[in-house]
Amino acid sequence: MATAARVDLDGNPIKQITICMIGAGGFIGSHLCEKLMAETPHKVLAVDVYNDKIKHLLEPASLPWADRIQFHRINIKHDSRLEGLIKMADLTINLAAICTPADYNTRPLDTIYSNFIDALPVVKYCSENGKRLIHFSTCEVYGKTIGCFLPKDSPLRQDPAYYVLKEDASPCIFGPIEKQRWSYACAKQLIERLIYAEGAENGLDFTIVRPFNWIGPRMDFIPGIDGPAEGVPRVLACFSNNLLRSEPLKLVDGGQSQRTFVYIKDAIEAVLLMIENPARANGQIFNVGNPNNEVTVRQLAEMMTQVYSKVSGEPPLETPTIDVSSKEFYGEGYDDSDKRIPDMTIINRQLGWNPKTSLWDLLESTLTYQHRTYAQAIKQTMSKAVPS
Ligand code: NAD
Ligand code: UDP
Repeated sequence: MATAARVDLDGNPIKQITICMIGAGGFIGSHLCEKLMAETPHKVLAVDVYNDKIKHLLEPASLPWADRIQFHRINIKHDSRLEGLIKMADLTINLAAICTPADYNTRPLDTIYSNFIDALPVVKYCSENGKRLIHFSTCEVYGKTIGCFLPKDSPLRQDPAYYVLKEDASPCIFGPIEKQRWSYACAKQLIERLIYAEGAENGLDFTIVRPFNWIGPRMDFIPGIDGPAEGVPRVLACFSNNLLRSEPLKLVDGGQSQRTFVYIKDAIEAVLLMIENPARANGQIFNVGNPNNEVTVRQLAEMMTQVYSKVSGEPPLETPTIDVSSKEFYGEGYDDSDKRIPDMTIINRQLGWNPKTSLWDLLESTLTYQHRTYAQAIKQTMSKAVPS
């Protein structure tokens, strides 16, 4: 635990607070809990239906932070204990959501319920009890860029005004209703609007976070190892799974979509600044991403193939990628965001935060983790699958 007096960005001492973290057992939650335990004096009421990713923080009881973290196995859809936990805390952070694209078009009802309906009581309890809320939204609320509607050869496509995504200026552009991919973005947009309205009409102290493809260790699952064999996680875990099994990486619709990836440890620094600088973070919507780490999905596949070969010592496949249609991969109703570059003006101005880690470096540490964690288990399942 940190012992020296810690100060905020304005030089004021930081007081110890209690945080009710909903979705604490997920990818982002696990990293945030780790950071809070290792570097701050804050207490965490960790709420989730799973705790596998934070077990190392909960046991054994001799851990130096054991009295600062409590796990509550609660499904926020139906559990009356939630309000009590929010009342006990100074700040609530809501990370709970269905947030895997393979679910948006195949389980649109669960997606909408999870991202809108289930988040409603959390907002209400915070507002009614005068508690601060940090709510996790998504960069996907921007949907598609204006630029993607321009003719392919238009020089305006090169103009940042047509693609850089700005919290207070860019429109939210989704596809038609039958493209159920947008069920997630639309639900997240509506909960953002509701939180904003609670701030405007009822004085709720809120911060909204829009993550732009945060990646790193413990993201999602490896199908057939620590998740369902037929499950489709987000791209980092899909490509890791392919690399671990020495099979070609699947490029959906040619892998032409562009993404910017930020290292989870950089992004968590931004969240800690929000937690500890309420005067600068309240009332704000923050893009959190790394505009310097842009690649097409095809380039990501090529880079991950090279990095994996380096960290595993195995030669890259002769045919490292194959093309697959989105209908085959995700099913009916899939659509895609074409390009996601975050504007960083607001987070820079309010919190002075900048990402540090290059794409190569973050892939190297992440794929080293994936190899160390899964390579042996994959070998075992693959050898069992071969008939003798
Ligand atoms: P994750 O799936 O790893 O974590 C979400 C956690 O919420 C899971 O542990 C899940 O069990 C829990 N949860 C879901 N429904 C619950 C319920 N009803 N009751 C209790 N717990 C429940 O996802 P993540 O990547 O850590 O994302 C966290 C948040 O950030 C989500 O709101 C997501 O939409 C948002 N986000 C993340 C990214 C990213 O790059 N990782 C990008 C955009 C948005
Ligand atoms: N994708 C892919 N192959 C895969 C998994 C994903 O080509 O095995 C693509 C997907 O179509 C999208 C991008 O990778 O264009 C990022 O997908 P992800 O699931 O990580 O989430 P998103 O960034 O779309 O929210």
